[in-house]
Amino acid sequence: MHTYKYPVVLTVAGFDGSGGAGIQADINTISALGCYATSVLTALPVQNTTGVKAVHLIPAAVVKQQLETVLEDIRPDAIKIGMIPDEAVLMVICNVLRAYPGIPIIYDPVMVASSGDHLMQKETISAMIRELFPLIALVTPNLDEAAVLTNTKVNSISEMEIAARRITDMGCPSVLLKGGHLPSGQLTSVLFNADQSRQLFHTERIDTDNTHGTGCTLSAAIAAFIARGEGLNFAVESGIAYVHQAILHGKDVKTGKGRGPLNH
Ligand code: PLP
Repeated sequence: MHTYKYPVVLTVAGFDGSGGAGIQADINTISALGCYATSVLTALPVQNTTGVKAVHLIPAAVVKQQLETVLEDIRPDAIKIGMIPDEAVLMVICNVLRAYPGIPIIYDPVMVASSGDHLMQKETISAMIRELFPLIALVTPNLDEAAVLTNTKVNSISEMEIAARRITDMGCPSVLLKGGHLPSGQLTSVLFNADQSRQLFHTERIDTDNTHGTGCTLSAAIAAFIARGEGLNFAVESGIAYVHQAILHGKDVKTGKGRGPLNH
């Protein structure tokens, strides 16, 4: 009997039967980074690499039951939260997690898939800021999500810094604002902390459509590095490097008819 314990990451996220995004991407990432994945399903989008055909809801009471059952058995070293479809699911997640203080939570505020399909009801956003932001260690919006959160357009690095500051003012200690959707050869992301410290991260853009699940993978990777005991800045830097390598390795692989997944 070994006493060694893998770092554990719990992912609380939505389904992607085509394997590239959501809870499937998270479990792949967490496992590839040497951690043990537990998981709670928040919603059942029916999708493939070409888009989302439907989003089926899971009753909030069922999400609650999953979360309580997994948490009472296996305490995670970090938690990644992805798709939260509506306020009822948001509230049960927050209520259960309040009973488990001290576990770092990385939240990818999934709102709209790259295909344009909505994965969160708009009315949920204010409750998300009010209830979830105070519980998390880091939120990882892309430019579109930052624009929704701050109600302003975010189209340049200076606008990213302003938006990042405004998001920390909403009550979460750190924000990683991802600049992948800015049209430039170099990708810039900003890590901004409530104490006003910031760090910029740069990577070269890779020319490929195989980016389905990039945001899911990044937030799961950051959670895995945190579970392994790394500090936030290093975990973010390592997560970005992991995603870059995963895109590089999958850039010429044809999986499905649409935007293919990263390669872990
Ligand atoms: N499906 C689920 C369950 C997700 O959580 C996400 C994004 O986070 C997506 C699909 C969309 O992935 P992408 O925008 O990379 O295609």
